[in-house]
Parts: sequence; structure tokens; C-alpha cells
Amino acid sequence: AARNKEDLRSPICCILGHVDTGKTKLLDKIRQTNVQEGEAGGITQQIGATYFPVDAIKTKTADGKQEYKIPGLLVIDTPGHESFTNLRSRGSSLCNIAILVVDIMHGLEPQTLESLRLLRDRKTPFIVALNKIDRMYGWQPTPDNDFQSSLAKQSRAVQREFEDRTQKTILAFAEQGLNAVLYYDNKNFARNVSLVPTSAITGEGVPDMIMLLVNLTQERMSDRLMYLSELECTVLEVKVIEGLGTTIDISAYVHHKEVKAALGVKIVAPDLEKAIAGSRLLVVGPDDDEDELMDEVMSDLTTLLNSIDKSGRGVCVQASTLGSLEALLDFLKASKIPVSGINIGPVHKKDIMRAATMLEKAKELACILCFDVTVDKDAERLAEEMGIRLFKADIIYHLFDAFTAYNAEIME
Ligand code: GDP
Ligand code: MG
Repeated sequence: AARNKEDLRSPICCILGHVDTGKTKLLDKIRQTNVQEGEAGGITQQIGATYFPVDAIKTKTADGKQEYKIPGLLVIDTPGHESFTNLRSRGSSLCNIAILVVDIMHGLEPQTLESLRLLRDRKTPFIVALNKIDRMYGWQPTPDNDFQSSLAKQSRAVQREFEDRTQKTILAFAEQGLNAVLYYDNKNFARNVSLVPTSAITGEGVPDMIMLLVNLTQERMSDRLMYLSELECTVLEVKVIEGLGTTIDISAYVHHKEVKAALGVKIVAPDLEKAIAGSRLLVVGPDDDEDELMDEVMSDLTTLLNSIDKSGRGVCVQASTLGSLEALLDFLKASKIPVSGINIGPVHKKDIMRAATMLEKAKELACILCFDVTVDKDAERLAEEMGIRLFKADIIYHLFDAFTAYNAEIME
């Protein structure tokens, strides 16, 4: 397709933030408010993503003046780091814009900071949803209202509490080196991060948030939203669907001969069990050299292998996906914890054996940091027998805390 600023593809949007800030609820709300109103050309829930065609967005945010250049918005369903870290292409991110969710009652929390680091590393533009405004004492909800008119209806005390909490959040962002401002006060989108107050329960501020996403993507990143002739794609999830005997709900899947970006699609093919979530998907065209493309995909892994300590001393690291492994390695590097081995997927006996080589070199490093992966029974038993410590967590900083505590213990 020709490159044209007036004919843009759908931007891809991810949701990040600390646990319990309302990421899932916010996604549900975006989906549900639209679905309930039963718009034409409705929302389609895709594989790992929800697609909002522009007509659905329009009815949600109708103010008549808005111009739409994007055909829709693709929101990735798995909230949290998982999907974001996996949306990779050539080391950058396929995620065009992110929503960082902050609980207005709690301010910035550990995983908020972790999310900020990921967003900065990938240079991903983002907005901040200042969620749970309805939890402020005395808040009078007007369902699905735009935020400013809702705020105007509140008592003076509620308005003051809102100002107070917003100021605190702005200060906390300033400590992270970021200029955050309420989106309707934002005069410079290139320099300031926009805060959108929302409630995932009452739906207030949600239209504002969607509008802001549309505006930011089509005004500020049209270059990156023009159709490309070549495919850019990453593997989000490798999933086994139990067949034979179990019924599969195939009605959920619609078959297509052709799709236009950006979309989530399910691919059924032989040998997919060897695919790694987070890796790139390339298409071998008639003029391409298959071996060359294979090298290109493998180069992503080579970069990761370079983070392994040359002296052969270090902890072993195991993660569920390429993206999460990468995030964890970045973190360990920043914390100056050496790494001697990496792997993706469940922990097996051979992983324990590898970690065991460290027992002689540096006993305190004879351990495996297991990030969002399962450990099989035999491996668990072997680890115990050999004295290999396994640290298991789904949150990077929990893993890190456990490991540092253990290190301190050993030093004594
Ligand atoms: P996640 O861990 O970020 O995905 O958070 P969830 O979406 O699971 O929400 C965590 C809890 O906060 C749930 O009990 C939600 O019902 C609640 N919650 C989420 N958003 C809001 C909100 O805007 N207002 C209120 N009062 N509660 C919310
Ligand atoms: Mg959730």
C-alpha cells in the first residue's frame, strides 16, 4: 500500500501499571461501555487483543469537531508487563502508545516505576490514567461522564482532595524526571506526560482517555502509523488448546484470507510448539533467503546471550518469554548481579545441573531466578538434593528482593 498520512493503520496500545491499580477493570470498562451501547460495526475481541473500529470510538466521544484518520485502535488484552515486553520488533516496541495506570489513592508504586523504566527503554509514548477517582470520599458519580464536567459537580471538599492528590502525583513524577500535567492543561505533548483522571467503575474519564489516545496517535505519530509493505509482527503467546475429547469453541475464530494492520491473529501450523513468545515473526518472500531471515530472528537471542558474564560466574535466569527475560536481564545488569546462564520456559533437571556448576565456583550464585515459569517436580527435588536455591516470582522486584535478602544472609 502507498504511504499516506491520511490513510493510517490502527495504533497498538498496551496497559501497564502496578498490581490492583485497575488495569483489567479499565479494559473491561472500555469494552463494555461500547458493547452495551451496541454500536454498528462493533468491537471485535481478537486473539489477545480488542479491536475498536473508529465508528465505535466516535459514538463514545462524539463532540462533532474531532477528525479521525486512524481506522481504529487495537488494545492488547493482557495488561501488565507481559504483553508490553513481548511486543518487540528489531529491539524496539511494536506498542505505539501505552496507558500507565496509577491508583490516585496510592500514587506511584514499585511496579509503576518498573513500568516507567520499560517505557523509557523502549521510548514508548504513554499517558497516565489516574484511576479510582470515585474512591475519593464523597465523590458523586455520573456514569461514563467526561471528567471535567464530573469534577465540576463535586463538593468543594472533593475538588480539594482531587487537587491535593494530583499535586502529590505530579511531584512524584517530577522525582522521576517527568513533567506530568492534567491532560486538559497540557500545552506541550512532546514534553509533558498527560494525566487523565478515570474511574473504571463509574466510567468517568474513560471517554477522555480514549479521545486522548486517538489524538496523540494520529497527530503525533502518523509517520509510524502509515502502512508498510512488509509485515511487522511478534509472537504474543504460544498456547496449547487441548484437543480431542475436549470441545473447542471454534465460533470464536473467524477465518480470513487477508487482514490489514494492526490486528491480533491466531496462527495454526505444525511445529509451533517450538515458537517462543516475544520473538519476531518474519515472512519468507519469493526473493528472500530463508537462512538469512533465520539468522536475523536468532540475532535477538544473541543479544541476550551477550549479557552473560564472560568469567562464567553468575546466577541462572529463567523466564516465560523472550520479552520478560530481556526485562529481567536489564534489571539484573543495573543491579550488578552477574548472570551465567539463561533459558526460556519451565525449569527442568538440566537447568538445575547447569546451575550446579556454580557450587564450586561461587556457592552464593548457585541459584536460579525463575520469573513467571513453572518448575517441574523432578527439577525441584534435584535442586533440593544439590542445594540449588530456586527463587520464584511473577514480579521482577520481588525476585530481586528475595535474592538480595538471601545474599545478605550468606554474607553473614
Ligand atoms: P489490576 O491488577 O491492575 O488489573 O487491577 P484490577 O482491574 O483487577 O482491579 C483491582 C481492584 O480494584 C478490583 O477490586 C477492582 O474492582 C478495583 N478497581 C479497579 N478500578 C477501580 C476504580 O476506578 N474505582 C474503584 N473504586 N475500584 C476500582
Ligand atoms: Mg489485572
